[in-house]
Amino acid sequence: MEGNSAAALSGCAIVWRNIRIFILLIVLLWAAVHTSFERFGSTRWKDPLWVGIFPINADGTAAAQSYIDGITAENFGDINEFMGREAHRYGKSLAKPLYLVVYPQVRTLPPTLSRDAGILGTVWWSLKLRWYAWRNADTHGRASPHVRMFVLFHDPSTLQTVPDSHGMQKGLIGVTHVFGSQRMARTNSVVIAHELLHTLGATDKYDYATGAPLFPIGFAEPARKPLYPQDETEIMAGRRAVSAQRAEMPEGLDTVVVGPATAVEIRWAKR
Ligand SMILES: [Zn+2]
Repeated sequence: MEGNSAAALSGCAIVWRNIRIFILLIVLLWAAVHTSFERFGSTRWKDPLWVGIFPINADGTAAAQSYIDGITAENFGDINEFMGREAHRYGKSLAKPLYLVVYPQVRTLPPTLSRDAGILGTVWWSLKLRWYAWRNADTHGRASPHVRMFVLFHDPSTLQTVPDSHGMQKGLIGVTHVFGSQRMARTNSVVIAHELLHTLGATDKYDYATGAPLFPIGFAEPARKPLYPQDETEIMAGRRAVSAQRAEMPEGLDTVVVGPATAVEIRWAKR
């Protein structure tokens, strides 16, 4: 009898283990399908891509807060213009590729990613960020955007450079650090557009060690003679090469372009 009940127990345990594995497989399958669906949907360019800006006071200062209090969608109009202009250059007929909405301020800071996080640390951070976005991207009853951009504003008088920004394709989430200052608004838009394109599958086109644009994919005009100085900036390079040794950040999106390699990545062009 005892032997029989032990066998029945282990049989029961095996059934439960199989059920658990089955559920886990379903969850993983759902995540894979959901991610590829999101990727495909975000770069179809048949309808405007809905981008939600979620402002955050990064340092808790009154200066950053007063800047956030004055923000409207017009602050990011240059991103709309840039995306429209560049999409048309690649033959996209959509009048406006983006529909950009500013949502109410988010009060909780997103998880931070340290530079020495490694692969596992980065995976863990990306899971925490997806959880954070799910909990904090409160649309206050309005429809949810396709892409959620958390924009953290810093008081420019308290620091020289802002922390690194990130754009994640899985989950279509961006975390962007910028200065809360009207004077910096145009360069802020360059940073936000760069991270937005990361969420759509675009990769960096600069040398991580030196910050210099990669040739030819990081150059706006790689065929230009003489090659230097470049007048325009490729968005995913982030800087234009003014000489073989020196690169400069653009002052605004009016001198920035989407290069052919980036256009392929975001499905504006075919390889
Ligand atoms: Zn980047």
